[in-house]
Amino acid sequence: MKCPYCSQPESKVVDSRDSETGEAIRRRRECLGCGKRFTTYERVEAVPLWVVKKDGRREEFNRRKLLGGLVNASTKRDIASAQLETIVEDIENALRGRNVTEVRSREVGEMVMQRLRSLDEIAYVRFASVYRSFRDVEQMRATIEDVLANPPGTRPPDAPRRRRRGADDGRELPLDMGK
Ligand SMILES: [Zn+2]
Repeated sequence: MKCPYCSQPESKVVDSRDSETGEAIRRRRECLGCGKRFTTYERVEAVPLWVVKKDGRREEFNRRKLLGGLVNASTKRDIASAQLETIVEDIENALRGRNVTEVRSREVGEMVMQRLRSLDEIAYVRFASVYRSFRDVEQMRATIEDVLANPPGTRPPDAPRRRRRGADDGRELPLDMGK
C-alpha cells in the first residue's frame, strides 16, 4: 500500500475498525517513510446476490431496478431521491452482510416496505399495491387501514412487525421478518 504523500510502500496500521455501515474495514495507516497518516478500506469482493422470485426464477440483485420501483412509488411525494438511495443501500448492505448468495424476492419487498412505511404512507401503499399484487380493493383497504391504525412513529422503524397469522392482508407475508 503506497503512501499517497510520498509513495513509500511501507506503512503500519495504527487503527482498524468496521466502517459505519459495517461493510468495510477501515484502517488508519502511518507511512514509515514520511510519518503521515492515511486511511484504507478493505471490502469483500462483491459476489453475486441472487433474488429468487415467487415462481422460482432467479435474477441478480439489481440496485437500479429496486431504486426504480421506489422512485415510481414516490412520484409527486415529498421524498428526496437521496432518501430512496439510502433505503436501497441500506437493504443491499443488510443482505450482503448476511453472506448468503440468495434471498427471496418477497423478503426484499418486505424490507423495502418496512422502510418506506416510516418514510411516506402514500408511497408505502403504492409500493405495496404493486409488490403484493393486490387482487382487489379489499386488500388495498386492509393495508390502508393498517397504516391508519399504526401510523409512522408509533413503533421504531426497525422493529419487526408482528402480524396476526391469517390476517387478510398478511396471507403471503413471512412472519419472521427482522430475525
Ligand atoms: Zn509517506
